[in-house]
Amino acid sequence: MSDEVEVVVDGRAMLGECPMWDADRQSLLWVDILAGEVHRYRPDGDDSVVLKLDVPVGAVAPCADGGLVLAADRGFALHSEERGQTTWLGAVDRGERMNDGKCDPAGRFWAGTMIDESSPGKAGLYRLEPDGRIVPVLTSVTLSNGLGWSPDGHTMYYIDTPARTVDAFDFDLETGSITNRRVLVDLREAEGRPDGLTVDSAGGIWIAMARGWSVRRYDAHGVLDRVIRLPVQKVTSCTFGGSGLDELYITSARSGLTSDDLAEQPYAGALFRCRPGVTGLSPHSYRG
Ligand code: CA
Repeated sequence: MSDEVEVVVDGRAMLGECPMWDADRQSLLWVDILAGEVHRYRPDGDDSVVLKLDVPVGAVAPCADGGLVLAADRGFALHSEERGQTTWLGAVDRGERMNDGKCDPAGRFWAGTMIDESSPGKAGLYRLEPDGRIVPVLTSVTLSNGLGWSPDGHTMYYIDTPARTVDAFDFDLETGSITNRRVLVDLREAEGRPDGLTVDSAGGIWIAMARGWSVRRYDAHGVLDRVIRLPVQKVTSCTFGGSGLDELYITSARSGLTSDDLAEQPYAGALFRCRPGVTGLSPHSYRG
């Protein structure tokens, strides 16, 4: 067990985000949102750009049939790496662009949008059903970010970044509906703001702290357990990967940093990894 982080891809991403373990291909998907890039990092090899769009790519997840599902621009799409083909499924009605997304245990793909924070509440959270329908779930969102589910699948965790909280909902696996919203973790006194999150097999919630130089682990009751420090300020998201799901991958960003910041943080935009002695949950794929 170690909280020491290593740089695995010195990717200099403008906005590295959405790390997602692809168990079928034993590799890590991640995006550079602003570059419109989807990357695939192979722990035994290299990092390659497997898709580049001329629109922002907020999130990616593997599909059960071998393709990729994307939250990009202002909508959802499917992509086949073999055919090099992107198929748009439809657009959303709130927010400037798609942001963080993830699949739930039943294989639906969830993603939210973001809007300039001077217009709070004008973005949304959406659910892409396996049949391709786009369902609005939350309509009063500003900067939709981290999503995750408890090991038993009965609780969904969610971050709307400007609120500086991690909220929990009761989650109905059968229908995908969420109820009983409550604040699980209040981060208003913490350094930075909550961005992406992942849940481990013991139910712990790992939160990437944008402008907070860290990833924080909270237990399922919302009690702070650990803080992993990083050499970069803009820590954006994290997930477990590796063949034993015992590696924590962490993304970061360069966007918005000054030249002085970048001189102090040469690894801003890198993909990091550590082995915290905890394993992640098996990642879910889109069953569309
Ligand atoms: Ca994010």
